[in-house]
Amino acid sequence: MIVICVVFLALLGACVGSFLNVVIYRLPNGQSIVFPSSHCPTCGRAIRWHDNIPLLSWLLLAGRCRWCKKPISPRYIIIEAITMVLVAGLFAWYFILERRSGAGAFETAWPMYAAHAALLCGLLACAAVDIEHWIVPLEVCWVVSVAGLVSSAAWPHPFIPRVSPATGAMAVAAVAGLAVAMLMVKYGLIRRSFSDVVDKPVARDSLEINTASPPGRKSKRTPKVVLEPYSKAHGVNPRLEVLREVLFLVPALVLAIGAYELVTRVDVVRQGWLRLAGEGPVAVHFGALLAATWGYLVGGAWIWGTRIFGTLAFGKEAMGMGDVHLLAAVGAVTGWIVPSIAFFVAPFLGLLWALYLLAGRNQRQLPYGPWLAAGTLIVMLFYDAFRGFLAPMTEAFR
Ligand SMILES: [Zn+2]
Repeated sequence: MIVICVVFLALLGACVGSFLNVVIYRLPNGQSIVFPSSHCPTCGRAIRWHDNIPLLSWLLLAGRCRWCKKPISPRYIIIEAITMVLVAGLFAWYFILERRSGAGAFETAWPMYAAHAALLCGLLACAAVDIEHWIVPLEVCWVVSVAGLVSSAAWPHPFIPRVSPATGAMAVAAVAGLAVAMLMVKYGLIRRSFSDVVDKPVARDSLEINTASPPGRKSKRTPKVVLEPYSKAHGVNPRLEVLREVLFLVPALVLAIGAYELVTRVDVVRQGWLRLAGEGPVAVHFGALLAATWGYLVGGAWIWGTRIFGTLAFGKEAMGMGDVHLLAAVGAVTGWIVPSIAFFVAPFLGLLWALYLLAGRNQRQLPYGPWLAAGTLIVMLFYDAFRGFLAPMTEAFR
């Protein structure tokens, strides 16, 4: 039975990987991920279903289009293989090897597993797009975030660290504050910081699917997408720009502090709130939703805070907004602890990569998104070890 499960999930993972390839190729291009059906980017001919089987087709066609014989990027089979390993591997890690305590039986814990697997798939897509285009596809982050919030509310599971009712109140108020700020942006009360230009691919015509080129021919390499700092290109002061983002966050901060004071100081409010978020059948679900919401906020806050302080300190834009959405999505699925640890693991991975670059001649720089994704994966897999390692510290701060 367990073998059938793993095989099924591996096949499912390969199919999901095939879909991720569509997302990775089309989203940064601004194309629909539904229409048209798959076609060869070189000759434009439709790919038949039997040439579109995950993993196998690429191998059978030897990585070339059936019609025009132009090479198909190995990225396709790589993404499919990685997704297969992630989806089936996560199942094995949680439920066969039982490397994470408290997972429980798959029969009851499957929604949590599905949310975690969806998160890993989303992170893979974000990392792949980020590596190629230096942007994080926000749509992917949003889908994962909603999936995390909905699944934790519908099927509360112990993997999301619960928060106190007061903290939950802060989470709700902060979300309300963000909504207020977004309305203020919409009606022109706050101006957008920097520009949308930075969040969109710069060289649209450079989005080439064939990174591999046939031997003998001069390599037609994808032109490098150079993201010139927005401030440099448009003569804006990054410090002033980032202060707009601080302004954007003011309503959320004020409302959160206000909600905390209300819930902790005013008795009537506290009683009412405890009935909703404290204990009882409703609170089981509502409390889990609050925990996921708090995770979303904390995940985003790590990066956004670093971005604001880094930009103010160094006078140039530090960290992208895409990374804010990415770590927020991690928090929405896993709660506040995983993104908080991953935030500190990611720079180590980036540092290792930098050392590797220094050692070799390979000068390929990477954006930050993949490190956040890799850090998250590591923290999710070795969560128990991280918690054990951090336990003395959390004890000390009590
Ligand atoms: Zn073709």
